[in-house]
Amino acid sequence: MAPGPVGQSTEQKDDAQTEAVPKKLAKGVVLGPDGKPCRTCTDISSLFAVSKSATSSKSTLPPKPPADCPPDIVALGRSSWTLLHSITATYPTAPSPELQSETKTFIHTFSKLYPCWHCASDFQMWLKEDRNTPRVSSRAEFGQWMCEAHNAVNVKLGKKEFDCNRWEERWKTGWKDGRCD
Ligand SMILES: Cc1cc2nc3c(=O)[nH]c(=O)nc-3n(C[C@H](O)[C@H](O)[C@H](O)COP(=O)(O)OP(=O)(O)OC[C@H]3O[C@@H](n4cnc5c(N)ncnc54)[C@H](O)[C@@H]3O)c2cc1C
Repeated sequence: MAPGPVGQSTEQKDDAQTEAVPKKLAKGVVLGPDGKPCRTCTDISSLFAVSKSATSSKSTLPPKPPADCPPDIVALGRSSWTLLHSITATYPTAPSPELQSETKTFIHTFSKLYPCWHCASDFQMWLKEDRNTPRVSSRAEFGQWMCEAHNAVNVKLGKKEFDCNRWEERWKTGWKDGRCD
């Protein structure tokens, strides 16, 4: 069964899946390829509502689970961007042709392995556009490209775009006002 938002992929479940998926899914919960709620594809507030409704109608559970639980789409995204921007911050100023090639491969592999299937799918589509091909010939270029990639997701989610002139302050040097020193 193809993964999909709730309501689009609830047909054709086998017995095991029918049993595993709570009958009442909260709005916004996204299903994974296995037909079950996909934690890394869903904001935890929605996903937590599922487990609450499946266990008790008057739950005293907090609105968010403890920090040492598996990541939801938000925690996964923040951690991933932290890793990706930090990689650009330490990328060589003059990378070898071999490293440039490996970096492009890394980005494409990352886009296939990203643990939120609908995020991964959109990111792959974005990467396919000629103007979005990874630019990796220097740290400055790669950092700028990563900022643009992140801004594309920000725009999709209706968030404010980040000023890419300041990506290095955010991810390498710290802000010019010295608050990170
Ligand atoms: C490849 C990828 C695709 C994703 N697709 C989706 C999706 O389809 N749907 C979805 O709900 N979530 C998606 N996410 C997660 C989403 O981008 C956010 O990470 C998540 O919503 C949490 O947002 P946040 O507001 O905490 O800040 P984040 O967007 O995680 O940003 C973390 C910090 O990075 C800094 N920052 C913000 N923008 C930029 C930028 N352009 N350049 C440099 N620094 C910046 C800011 O200081 C910000 O606080 C995706 C994540 C990744 C890595």
